[in-house]
Amino acid sequence: MPENTDILQQLGLDLERHCKLLTVLNDSYSEVFPKQQSRPHGMDYFDRMHRDLYSSRIKELVEHKEKGGTVVGTFCPFVPEEIIDAVGGISVRLEGGMQLPIADAETILPSDLCPMIKSSLGFKLGKINPYFEIVDLFIGETTCDGKKKVWEILNNYAPTYVVELPQKKCQMDRELWLKELVSLKEKIEVISGVKITAESLAQSIKVFNAKRKAMAELHALRRKKPPPISGKDASLISQIACYDDAQRFTNRVNELCGELEERVIRGEGIVVHDASRIMITGCPMALPNWKLHHLIETTGAVVVCEDTCSGARYFMDPIVFEESTSVMKQIKAIADRYLNIPCPCFTPGYCGVLQTTQMAKDYKIDGVVYYVLQFCHSFNVEYYKVERFLKEAGIPVLRVQIDYSEEDIGQLKTRIEAFLEMLKV
Ligand code: SF4
Ligand code: SF4
Repeated sequence: MPENTDILQQLGLDLERHCKLLTVLNDSYSEVFPKQQSRPHGMDYFDRMHRDLYSSRIKELVEHKEKGGTVVGTFCPFVPEEIIDAVGGISVRLEGGMQLPIADAETILPSDLCPMIKSSLGFKLGKINPYFEIVDLFIGETTCDGKKKVWEILNNYAPTYVVELPQKKCQMDRELWLKELVSLKEKIEVISGVKITAESLAQSIKVFNAKRKAMAELHALRRKKPPPISGKDASLISQIACYDDAQRFTNRVNELCGELEERVIRGEGIVVHDASRIMITGCPMALPNWKLHHLIETTGAVVVCEDTCSGARYFMDPIVFEESTSVMKQIKAIADRYLNIPCPCFTPGYCGVLQTTQMAKDYKIDGVVYYVLQFCHSFNVEYYKVERFLKEAGIPVLRVQIDYSEEDIGQLKTRIEAFLEMLKV
């Protein structure tokens, strides 16, 4: 039985299904992480957080709610955490990365839909995941069509508010986006019963700017040759970032960076000096989707960056603002920063493609693995441009299309091995 059975029962969870979730997570973690050689000591905290995500972190959220606090569930980095934090709320990012709840979702959704969308809704339908039971409000966004439609269904099960994200980035779109964030602020104020002030919002912006800075520093250290941390560990940290308390997380990432800097000075790395350096770009990777990193890193190469919105796209760019300005001016600064996030849901999607190409150069990448979740049309079609730009820069790229099942692992392994072999020639 899980540690906090009483809390989980109060949340109305299906305990048997929840235990299966814990088993899947633990089995998968044991297969992927502890077997790595010379992991940094600073990973202890993130390992512990992973273990405690469904126990002590849930307890923290319950206690937060008991004191009158708000908890909000989001599914995309376009929803500004600062606005939720400014009312003393906690936001958790809840994209599903697991096969287990997909059968629940397929009782009402078509099977030929992105596994991330099905996994997310399935958690709610199956009462498997306590985060989905604890939140006061889900916030969806109008990014891809599958998500847009699923928010309507999710709203039948729990209050779901949808932020309209424009599809272009012209002046008109920027004005719409700003209005949307003002409406979101008003919604959060109503849900929490707390008014956002210039002081509270400025404080929240500083907290998340510090979190992004810490993550950017961690990822900058991965540019070193050899990198001082594996792609798997860096990816786990990015996933923990979706759930953990922002300030505690930032402190631990900063501590880890200190340890990694010392490793770099000593020339210590996680792999041999000439291991192929791989970048992963494409769809986001939600917990516990470690399949691709694991396959690449058990074949002798190392993943040194992720140009995904669970990777660099989450922490790129701070919010540039003046502390003494009004709430409205701060929201404008938030809107400007967030609309810069590249995502193929925009047209044209060139800024994302340019960023991918530039990152591949900056990190001295030997090859790029472009990862598409099954039935994700946005990323699948965007590949046309990404491939063209990377080829022009002389950087080899492999597109892989995957789901959350174990069935494609054999074929995926063969393709990755062949790609890595080709890079050595
Ligand atoms: S890929 Fe785009 S739509 Fe999907 S989570 Fe990331 S930013 Fe949001
Ligand atoms: S991976 Fe693609 S299809 Fe799935 S939620 Fe993100 S944008 Fe939509």
